[in-house]
Amino acid sequence: MIRKSEYQENLGRSLDLYTGRSLGGGSRINQMFYTRGLPAEYDAWAAAGRKGWSWEEFRPYFLKSEDAVGYGPIEGVHATAGEWKNRPLDRLYFRCFEQTLRGVEKLGLPYIPDINSPTHPPFGCGRVFFTIDKNSHRSSTFHAFLPASLALKRKSNLHICTDTLVERLVLESLPDGTSVVRGVQMISGGGRKTVKVEQEVIMSAGPLANPQILMLSGIGPAEHLKDHDIKIMQDLPAVGSNLQDHLGVSIAWNIPMSDSLVSLQAKPWLFFIALFQYLIWGTGLLLVPVSQLFLFLHTKILDESGTPVKASKAFSEPIPDVEIMPMAYDSSDQPFPKTKGVYSLLNCLLRPKSHGTVRLTSSDPNAPLSIDLRYLSDPKDITPLRASLKFSLRLRDKMREQGYKLVDWQVPASESDEDLDRFIQHSNRNRTTYHYSSTCRMAPEHDPMGGGVVDDELKVYGVTNLRVADSSIFPWIPATHLQAPTVAVAEKCADMLRMKA
Ligand SMILES: Cc1cc2nc3c(=O)[nH]c(=O)nc-3n(C[C@H](O)[C@H](O)[C@H](O)COP(=O)(O)OP(=O)(O)OC[C@H]3O[C@@H](n4cnc5c(N)ncnc54)[C@H](O)[C@@H]3O)c2cc1C
Repeated sequence: MIRKSEYQENLGRSLDLYTGRSLGGGSRINQMFYTRGLPAEYDAWAAAGRKGWSWEEFRPYFLKSEDAVGYGPIEGVHATAGEWKNRPLDRLYFRCFEQTLRGVEKLGLPYIPDINSPTHPPFGCGRVFFTIDKNSHRSSTFHAFLPASLALKRKSNLHICTDTLVERLVLESLPDGTSVVRGVQMISGGGRKTVKVEQEVIMSAGPLANPQILMLSGIGPAEHLKDHDIKIMQDLPAVGSNLQDHLGVSIAWNIPMSDSLVSLQAKPWLFFIALFQYLIWGTGLLLVPVSQLFLFLHTKILDESGTPVKASKAFSEPIPDVEIMPMAYDSSDQPFPKTKGVYSLLNCLLRPKSHGTVRLTSSDPNAPLSIDLRYLSDPKDITPLRASLKFSLRLRDKMREQGYKLVDWQVPASESDEDLDRFIQHSNRNRTTYHYSSTCRMAPEHDPMGGGVVDDELKVYGVTNLRVADSSIFPWIPATHLQAPTVAVAEKCADMLRMKA
């Protein structure tokens, strides 16, 4: 599903926001990158008071559903008994990736053999692990956790409604001021239905739709609900607040066509050969991803020119602040001519300080949402992006020194702050990375960041039988790709329910 964001003042445009509208949600359409983030990420949640969410407590839930295909098990790091598959590819498919790896090493950054190992430093380059099976086919959460055999086995107590839109929860006020969910109202099979709730409701509609459903049910910022004539059941200002994403900025060069995935579009005969290979042998270029390397950095290790100078294990920042994704294709969201090969580096801000909002435009569940990411609204957010772009240019220099021809195509006019800022903000090279997060954050109901929506057991404040379990509950956006932490949240929620039963 594509939604338009509100006009982004600091980018000079609005962006197209994508989410997966299917069983399995985003995991049906995402890039399949599998990363967990470093232990310090979750230890910071624990330090902020989240009981049960330190790395050591959360770690088992990454392993519980993992099937590390062909490279596990590794005690405490990777498991093979779970349902959800991930693995790296056997080799780098394009010369531009080999050159990237050499260039990064020459810049003094370490190679990270396993990006999901809890002991790697917050900077370095490693191969991508994908949520794919041994045949390189997508292992979505739908295929992993809801195979037809399981759905059939459990059909007496599992009812799956497809083509269904949940509109709101039916709540009843209790004398003590709390509420209880009595039903879930939905449009299904062409008609409106209300499903009766006997125990609990677990919401997993994602960071954009969860706040919409909550607000339509009367749970959210009171003033906003009043504006839409919605009866207030719980005044929870944090609902739909604290929206975050990893803003990306793409810098790009022309390279030989044969080194780039653009070749599939530029040369129809190559596409047909690839299609043939795929249909007959299940192999070929159609299975090759746009990116095969991850590059994580803390920009404090860089000097003024963007060159790493402090890449030692003793470095004190435990969490990276940028990720750079090398791609054998353009990584902006703009159309581009398919006449030359393209290599790009997508510079992603991993620890944004800016926060946006999800708000209703109407009390009609089908009305579009007002989604304002407020990218770069905190001026501090631009500093790591500038440094990251400079690092990208130093990587370009190293690759050129190695003899790899990179022709400047979409690069900043110079390395002055003004030109870097112009490139970041006003060149159409910025984009969403689809990592929406934290609109129902797990935090105390009132805290300096605007408060929380759910407690440490994922229960919505003021409602006795309602939990949220997905990427909307992160206290702040994790400095990593979101699908693995989201599944771990779901696993932990399942355990909470099991313990209660
Ligand atoms: C194009 C793209 C590429 C990405 N690439 C990566 C990647 O490579 N690696 C990575 O880790 N992350 C990636 N992500 C992000 C990752 O997929 C998401 O963070 C993750 O899917 C979030 O999971 P979720 O369960 O919170 O929400 P979602 O996956 O959005 O799931 C929400 C579900 O709720 C359903 N729903 C919503 N509203 C309603 C309603 N009113 N009634 C009924 N059902 C409803 C939706 O149909 C969907 O099934 C990508 C995302 C996108 C869109």
